[in-house]
Amino acid sequence: MQDFDVVIIGGGPIGIACGLEAKKQGVSYVIIEKGPIVNSLFNYPINMQFFSSSEKLEIDEIPFISKEAKPKRNEALEYYRRIVTSNNLNIHLFEKVLQVEKGDQSFTVETDKDQYNAKNIIVATGFYDLPNKINVPGEDLPKVSHYYKDPHFYASQKLAVVGASNSAIDAALECWRKGAEVTLIIRGPEVGQRVKYWVRPDIINRIEEGSIKAHYNSTVKEIKPDEIILDTPEGELTLANDFVLALTGYRPNFAFLEKLGIQLSADEKRLPTYDPETMETNVSGLFLAGVICGGMETHKWFIENSRIHAPIIMKAIKQKMQMAEKD
Ligand code: FAD
Repeated sequence: MQDFDVVIIGGGPIGIACGLEAKKQGVSYVIIEKGPIVNSLFNYPINMQFFSSSEKLEIDEIPFISKEAKPKRNEALEYYRRIVTSNNLNIHLFEKVLQVEKGDQSFTVETDKDQYNAKNIIVATGFYDLPNKINVPGEDLPKVSHYYKDPHFYASQKLAVVGASNSAIDAALECWRKGAEVTLIIRGPEVGQRVKYWVRPDIINRIEEGSIKAHYNSTVKEIKPDEIILDTPEGELTLANDFVLALTGYRPNFAFLEKLGIQLSADEKRLPTYDPETMETNVSGLFLAGVICGGMETHKWFIENSRIHAPIIMKAIKQKMQMAEKD
């Protein structure tokens, strides 16, 4: 079994930032990532453009040069990959952490490939693995997806997009521009207020001119192989339908956090317990980093404001290590 000062679970931008900081501070570490480098970003829509400018996505002040002020997905993949390879970070890819057991002095980390011993653990597992289901009959049909990749796929098809925030609105606009017949199904009375300020007028204009149909205050009741049934303020409505993109957000893996012993708030926010001064959770030696810190409030933390977690955590780990040496 290999021994480390810290095992970092998750090789997203923030897990990588933690690895980089550990290396700088002389703390032995391994990053364990269940997919490729920055797996979540890899799975984002192919044409996705960040709402942050490139310098706000930089880690450790390593310059991120992009063609436009706000970088595209492929530029971010290039940036974070180069950080990993140029700095020779110790990252194990396509290896999933299954379990973490706390012993007297250290943690035992069990993955689908190996076992590790670690004095500290950083959980930086993000929230993009588990979609918020709409829980209606037909949601499991192959024509329904909770992830959107490429508009070309939907050309000349009748596409229902469920949701009103950035992912849903970007998908609706892109697919309409590639010739899909798009219907938006929006639970509330309007397009989400957090939709990017330069995209919101675009979607509102497309809806008002009738290019994209929108049903407000409406929900999906059932999905059938060639129809979708909605509950609308005017009553039940059946629409012909080829594909459904249910883009209703994602949630952290709370079961995983609970299995690690991390306390979650009892309200619907399910906020994990941690000390913001150190990012250490109620489990001594177990730290949280990145978007996972927000519980159900997945919009609260993003790369821009959570990249600072890496130096905060590493400072706390160094202090612990120094104290342990004195004892
Ligand atoms: P993630 O990037 O999600 O990384 C977590 C990693 O953990 C994943 O790679 C996952 O595979 C891995 N993992 C999970 N479970 C395990 C396990 N058991 N074992 C091993 N590995 C595991 N943020 C911004 O700052 N600016 C933006 O413009 C922006 N735009 C966005 C656009 C979209 C469409 C989305 C969905 C998000 C956007 N965000 C943006 C948010 C940003 O992408 C996330 O905040 C960022 O990915 C968070 O980084 P992270 O390292 O905390 O988590």
